[in-house]
Amino acid sequence: MTGTRVLVLNSGSSSLKYQLLDMRDSSRLAAGLVERIGEQTSRLKHTPLAAGGDAREADVPIADHDAALKAVAQELARDGLGLDSPDLAAIGHRVVHGGMFFTEPTVIDDAVIAEIERLIPVAPLHNPANLTGIRTARALRPDLPQVAVFDTAFHTTMPESAARYAIDPRIADRHRIRRYGFHGTSHAYVSRATAELLGKAPEDVNVIVLHLGNGASASAVRGGRCVDTSMGLTPLEGLVMGTRSGDMDPAVIFHLARVGGMSMDEIDTLLNKRSGLFGLCGDNDMREIRRRIDEGDEAAALAFDIYVHRLKKYIGAYYAVLGTVDAVAFTAGVGENAAPVREAAVAGLEGLGLAVDPGRNAVRGDRPRIVSPDSARVAVAVVPTDEELEIATQTYALVGKNT
Ligand code: ADP
Repeated sequence: MTGTRVLVLNSGSSSLKYQLLDMRDSSRLAAGLVERIGEQTSRLKHTPLAAGGDAREADVPIADHDAALKAVAQELARDGLGLDSPDLAAIGHRVVHGGMFFTEPTVIDDAVIAEIERLIPVAPLHNPANLTGIRTARALRPDLPQVAVFDTAFHTTMPESAARYAIDPRIADRHRIRRYGFHGTSHAYVSRATAELLGKAPEDVNVIVLHLGNGASASAVRGGRCVDTSMGLTPLEGLVMGTRSGDMDPAVIFHLARVGGMSMDEIDTLLNKRSGLFGLCGDNDMREIRRRIDEGDEAAALAFDIYVHRLKKYIGAYYAVLGTVDAVAFTAGVGENAAPVREAAVAGLEGLGLAVDPGRNAVRGDRPRIVSPDSARVAVAVVPTDEELEIATQTYALVGKNT
């Protein structure tokens, strides 16, 4: 392997996010996003980080992912970072669902593509989009190693007691129903970075990771291995999220169908897109919710309380799962930025050794930091996540090993 650059691609159904990294120092050379692919006007935003200069934005028609990647390649070429460069060592793809089969990052070949395809029934929204990105990139650089990094892989170490639902295993197995978990790349990165922040090896610490973005999930990580996580068969289970309900009595669904007369698709949309913070108060952005609370808005205050109550329950549950806890790490948009959420989530948990220092908690920053008092038995940490760096690191390590 001669090159040192890795292109990270994250393809959604109508978007393509990318970053180009130089793995000699993990620096970012360029980053960008194509949105509204297939619509009349798509938008491409490209930031030439290595070259300096402002982001370039253009509203142009981009018909499909193939056209999107070609447009990205053109932008990169303008900065002297073309995808035909021998400096490019590999392309790393975020793939949402790897089922039980993919426990590690995997070099993509036809058999891997077929397996990701086989998982479409359990990830109908995500895997087809991820596959489109893979096919497009392979067509553009067929000679280059391409690696799939799975959101589910970090969670494949969960014991059966945590991964199984309490339903007939024959039915579960027939339909591949089990708890897979998501955001694994972030949970892996953040749990390792938290160990580093404590000055310890990942094998020597137990960490509860709270990934609180628009989607949100918690995980219990024992000695670097995931032993439980809050998302399940799909990302709908667990915490209250921006637009998802998280945990609910499954009978709510029967009730909505039988008594409410709603179709399965309507219920799916309700629970995934119109619930959570948004469903409760009409806003899913925590900044807006805090602003409304400051103005005395009761619906926003109740939404915040429901969000925090669920979060606190998961902290307690994962404390019990782990037995001893070294750190609780907050990450992603809400976890990294919303000091009131961190404060409220551990309020009253002094008996578990958890507390935040108000002064430390109020300080903003983009470095990992501890926000609990020195006297606390358990560290409360803010650890910014970096999924692109983790995908690039895993991709580069795998490609380096294979050449
Ligand atoms: P995702 O990757 O799931 O789309 P992010 O991790 O980027 O989400 O998180 C986005 C969310 O983070 C926003 O919806 C908002 O609620 C929250 N957020 C972002 N910045 C702040 C901030 N300064 N204060 C509070 N919440 C914030």
